[in-house]
Amino acid sequence: MIKWSFSGLKDFINCPRQYHEVKVLRNFTKKPTEQMLYGTEVHKALEDYVRDGTPLAKNYERFKPMLDVLVELPGTHYAEHKMALTADKTPCDFDAEDYWVRGIADLLIVDEADALIIDYKTGSARYPDLRQMKLMALMTFIHFPEVQDIRAGLAFVMSGNLVSEDYKRDMIPSMWDVFAPTLERLAAAYESGAWSPNPTPLCGWCPVDTCEFREKRRRF
Ligand code: SF4
Repeated sequence: MIKWSFSGLKDFINCPRQYHEVKVLRNFTKKPTEQMLYGTEVHKALEDYVRDGTPLAKNYERFKPMLDVLVELPGTHYAEHKMALTADKTPCDFDAEDYWVRGIADLLIVDEADALIIDYKTGSARYPDLRQMKLMALMTFIHFPEVQDIRAGLAFVMSGNLVSEDYKRDMIPSMWDVFAPTLERLAAAYESGAWSPNPTPLCGWCPVDTCEFREKRRRF
């Protein structure tokens, strides 16, 4: 049985061979970029502020107006809320051995039949990818059966923009359809053992130093 997360699925789409070497075999580790380290630091500061009211460091105070709007919304607030499902799409513990898919909502607010899911982004808002929010919404519908309507959005904290989509409970089947083709490809790769490379100009930065494409790109 495959196990997946949204970021893992994206890695598989980018390069099945790298996914296999890094995520499945764990032969190599991806080094976090400076941008990723900054993102992690900001996430932690925002999480602490929203959950415990921990004051923001001076350089993060500009995010306060956006966060205060979220903090004041009615409902039960869950910061860094972990959710997981088994293969038959029932809720399970995040660390359950038989989990099938899992993810962490940066902020989830449940107010009776309505929910809001927020993912903080420190990067550019130019190409927002809302599929991640679809997956979080699907898990929220299953973990919180009382929820009927969800707004889920990417909060671009640098610009203060929120890019969001609305989902209704009767959309659940079509929301799963978004992931089905890639999950079929992932299952087929596990079954056949064929993890094809997907060379791009970024291969020079790939941690898989046994891949011939990494060396080729380094020569240019
Ligand atoms: S070097 Fe390129 S093709 Fe090879 S595994 Fe890495 S990303 Fe994939």
